[in-house]
Amino acid sequence: MKVDVAVIGNGPTARLAAHALRDAGLDAIMVGPPADRGTDPRTTALMPSSVDSLDRLGIDVRVRATPLRDLRIESTGPFGLIAEDFTAEDAGEEFLAQNLFIHDLMAVIADVPTVAAHAKGLFPGDEAVRIETEDGTTLEARLAVAADGLQSIAREAAGITLRKRPLGRSALCVPVRLERPHRRLCIERYDDTGTLTLIPVAEHDASLITIASPEDIGALTACDDEMIARKLSRRQPAFGKIAFSGAKAVFPLSIGFTPMPARNRVVAIGESAHIAPPIAAQGWNMSVRDIVTLTALLKAAREEDRDIGSAETLASYAPRRQPDVAGRLSAIGALAGVATRPFAPQKFLRQAGLMALGRFQGAKRGLMRAGLR
Ligand SMILES: Cc1cc2nc3c(=O)[nH]c(=O)nc-3n(C[C@H](O)[C@H](O)[C@H](O)COP(=O)(O)OP(=O)(O)OC[C@H]3O[C@@H](n4cnc5c(N)ncnc54)[C@H](O)[C@@H]3O)c2cc1C
Repeated sequence: MKVDVAVIGNGPTARLAAHALRDAGLDAIMVGPPADRGTDPRTTALMPSSVDSLDRLGIDVRVRATPLRDLRIESTGPFGLIAEDFTAEDAGEEFLAQNLFIHDLMAVIADVPTVAAHAKGLFPGDEAVRIETEDGTTLEARLAVAADGLQSIAREAAGITLRKRPLGRSALCVPVRLERPHRRLCIERYDDTGTLTLIPVAEHDASLITIASPEDIGALTACDDEMIARKLSRRQPAFGKIAFSGAKAVFPLSIGFTPMPARNRVVAIGESAHIAPPIAAQGWNMSVRDIVTLTALLKAAREEDRDIGSAETLASYAPRRQPDVAGRLSAIGALAGVATRPFAPQKFLRQAGLMALGRFQGAKRGLMRAGLR
């Protein structure tokens, strides 16, 4: 089978990339087995810029998402409990983010033509990439898009290097039910253990993420679910008792990116190209920007009758994406160092930072706009 683009992977990045490329008139196919995301406890908080990009592709996430209007950041430390509110109004937006479970995100993106099997080998050549799948299918594509996640075989086959650094922190993520309605307020608390964030969905539900040392997360998850919920309720009592409403999962955290994400007729996007801890909800929002940039680039190449997988075409991908990716990753990396470590200097820094933002509203608004757009 010959196609313009083979998108390797079956997650939200692969699905959206295949959809966007087809929308731009390219013959794109997704390569990946059916993905069951029903038990994935993660939600994705989509920034206004991502929601706009999805709107332009005819995808309305609002039908399944919960709009987040307010964010409260709290920090315990030498000054007691310091809190600062960040509102959609401050940022000049209708909402701070639209939050939805990954399976709901996948559901709002239309089905795309798919070879429903794992890619087992990619062989970049001068004119095309050959892709062999576990069900015996062979595909030839002018370009392969590596959207097969952190352990991407497509990225490896093209010799694209991922520079990754473990953060020595883990995240426990679980869907929860709250005793009291959240009224669309997201609360992120930095305390003596690490972080605890409640990201609202529906009226009484939330995705809970707590980040701490792997030892602390290990000790917490050794308890039964009821005991864990009790401990978490004590750390964040704002919405009353917290109860688990789904299965929990632990994610070891790292940060990293691909300095040269495109080579040998393969371009890495999404978590194949960059990984960030779940702080400031940037992860998949960066994937959306990857897809928008790549689609525009390939559309222009096709209109000008250029080879969409050539080194010349792909050469302009990295300069268009890297400043944004590098800027966001360095901000998230710095924030991770200060936000997730419960030691005295970090506690002092985050409380001082929060108090300063409370005093300098201009700086606060600027920071919010940079994060959301
Ligand atoms: C706790 C937590 C909370 C988060 N919250 C947010 C948030 O609020 N906002 C946000 O923007 N981001 C968030 N993120 C990040 C976001 O979840 C990820 O960026 C996103 O899920 C990555 O999607 P992906 O499709 O690139 O990769 P994946 O979801 O890893 O998908 C890749 C898929 O490819 C498949 N695959 C692997 N090998 C092959 C192969 N050989 N052939 C075919 N398929 C293959 C894999 O099975 C996998 O299903 C969060 C992350 C975590 C850990």
